[in-house]
Amino acid sequence: MSDDVRNDGYDDWLDALEGDQAFYLECTAGHGSLPPRRVCPECGSGELSETPLPTAGELDTFTVTHVPTPAFADDAPYVTGIVDFGPVRVTGRVLELDPDEIEPGLTVEATVIETDTTGERLVGFRPR
Ligand SMILES: [Zn+2]
Repeated sequence: MSDDVRNDGYDDWLDALEGDQAFYLECTAGHGSLPPRRVCPECGSGELSETPLPTAGELDTFTVTHVPTPAFADDAPYVTGIVDFGPVRVTGRVLELDPDEIEPGLTVEATVIETDTTGERLVGFRPR
C-alpha cells in the first residue's frame, strides 16, 4: 500500500486475516459483525471485542459473474460467495473451483487475494 487512503477498520481486518489473526467483532450479547463497526448492527451495543474468527466456514450462497464492472474486467468469470462462519457471515471470492463444481455447504477457509484487474485486496475462500 503506498499513499492510498486506507479504509481503516477494513484494511486492518484484511491485514489480520493475511497474518492468520482473523477476527470478528463480538458484542456483549454474542452478535458477530466485521469492521469497520463502532456499534453492533443487531442490537446497537457499543461494546465490541475482537474475537478469533473460526478457521472454517460453510458456503451459504454464491453468484457467478460473467460480465463484470470495469474494475473487475480481467477477473471474470468469477464467483462471489457468502460464507457462514457461525457468528458472522463474510462475503468474498470463491477460489480454485469451476463455477460448476461449487455447491452450497462447501467448507472453505478465508484468505486475502488481490484482484487481477486493479490489484485491490479482497477476501478469498479456498476449499478445505
Ligand atoms: Zn449485538
